[in-house]
Amino acid sequence: MEKFNAANNIQDLQYFGEFGGVNPSISDSSTYTFLSAKTMFDTFEGNTEGCYLYSRHSSPSNLYLGQALAQMEGTESANVTASGMGAITSTLLQLCKSGDHIISSRTIYGGTYAFMKNFLPGLQINTSFVDITDLDKVESAINKNTKVIFCETVSNPLLEIADLEALAKLAKKHQLKLVVDNTFSPLSVAPIQLGADIVIHSLTKFINGSSDAVAGVVCATSSFINDLKDVNSGACMLLGPTLDSLRASSILKNLRTLHIRIKKHSENAQYLAEKFENDGLDVKYPGLKSHKQHELFRKMMNEVYGFGGLLTLDVKTEEKANELMELMQKENLGYLAVSLGFYKTVFSASGSSTSSEIPVDEQKEMGLSPGLIRMSVGLDHDIQRTYEKMKKCMQQIGIL
Ligand SMILES: *Cc1c(COP(=O)(O)O)cnc(C)c1O
Repeated sequence: MEKFNAANNIQDLQYFGEFGGVNPSISDSSTYTFLSAKTMFDTFEGNTEGCYLYSRHSSPSNLYLGQALAQMEGTESANVTASGMGAITSTLLQLCKSGDHIISSRTIYGGTYAFMKNFLPGLQINTSFVDITDLDKVESAINKNTKVIFCETVSNPLLEIADLEALAKLAKKHQLKLVVDNTFSPLSVAPIQLGADIVIHSLTKFINGSSDAVAGVVCATSSFINDLKDVNSGACMLLGPTLDSLRASSILKNLRTLHIRIKKHSENAQYLAEKFENDGLDVKYPGLKSHKQHELFRKMMNEVYGFGGLLTLDVKTEEKANELMELMQKENLGYLAVSLGFYKTVFSASGSSTSSEIPVDEQKEMGLSPGLIRMSVGLDHDIQRTYEKMKKCMQQIGIL
């Protein structure tokens, strides 16, 4: 059997537009006509393949993008959403009902954490947050009401790596669903191939890559995707996190260059991480041998895509972090902004921004320092030149 290759799978999908266009036509309708009333009734019942009903349910442009992302992750189907959070919240609400229990990694995206910690308990859905790298802790948190194990392949912002194969085995043993947020590692890691049940992405980040749109996706079996879209009981259909067709079509075009961009992001991040480490800075990057789960990541990854575009630099205090980021922005080395996956380097101090939903004492316990800068390394043509300029900034504020 040919080895699973996400980029080839995407490439092998061929679409033509309505008039032979090299891009599929954009569907510009919220509703669709039927030649017969009978077909309309059957479509509501979910029985008519290839018929569109209403664009909150599905639209041709959204289906094209969903299909390409299903190919990328190797799932039967996928449903695109208006944001990564729309994908995460719909999935969890579809899988968990009142009384159910979730086990989640404690180092996850701040919005996901806030949803589980503050929103779901109001629906009697409770979450145990655990150190996902400690499998014994994960297993001992399982109780009779547990339905889901949730983690990120590469965690935000600490860049810890989840052992997806081991977690999948655990999930199977206890009949739980393993839901993986793979936003930080598209193409590099294919969680379904390692046994995960459902893969989620915020398309807002690397996959779209141009910081001009917010979107998400859930990749899973046809049966689960149909559940999400069910007109009577589907979280995506009823909560309405629907992606606009225009955006779906622009994201699909950007997806076509993802394999080239990811390689460059990884190459540049690896270069900077090695240089920073040599300079004696406190840097974490999965591609460094000093990273605790370097070997684990190596085992899970498709090595041509490298170890990803994210690294962290701990400069100990929030003041130094802010000083460095402001100076680097002034020198045009990147933007002081949240988010990631842009052509330009983007940095933020996680503790006071994207992870500020996590209380300060919990941040401390998980090792999130107030001086931790998360850097999404850009597609800089000459990374050596960038490094030299960054080094000057560090010398100027006295951390080198
Ligand atoms: C940004 C992000 C999300 C949320 O995605 P949105 O598109 O902003 O809703 C979820 N998980 C991770 C890992 C993220 O980086």
